[in-house]
Amino acid sequence: MTEEAPQDTPLAPVKIGPLITASAQGLCPRCGARTLFASVVAFSDRCRQCGLDFTQFNVGDGPAAFLTMIIGAVMLGLALALEFSVHPPLWLHVILWAPLTIASVIGSLRIAKGALLALEYRNRAREGVLVVALPESAEPPAGNLPQ
Ligand SMILES: [Zn+2]
Repeated sequence: MTEEAPQDTPLAPVKIGPLITASAQGLCPRCGARTLFASVVAFSDRCRQCGLDFTQFNVGDGPAAFLTMIIGAVMLGLALALEFSVHPPLWLHVILWAPLTIASVIGSLRIAKGALLALEYRNRAREGVLVVALPESAEPPAGNLPQ
């Protein structure tokens, strides 16, 4: 079984709606089974349906950092708007914004991680490898090679 995405024809543009829906549902990018996540935001090691190895994809910490900053800015704006309009007691801010922020980060992180993994699979994104091709007539430098 191959781990590669089909790449014979040019890829159609990505439709954001279906991508977000599939990510939120945790659908495998190859077979569409609901096997992408082992928990709320942690990926499974592989698809139980088609065997696609999810560990080969690396979405990194980009989604977490990006979403934390965006959601933090939105929550801060909402908290300031509430404070300046109603001026509620401090305890109301604590019980309102802390759970709302945590739920927003976790919910959007699941979508962002799933979407990035699906896009990596679709675009066959891999870690960069530097390959230096020498002309056939060129000899490798002998200065630092063991004799
Ligand atoms: Zn699958």
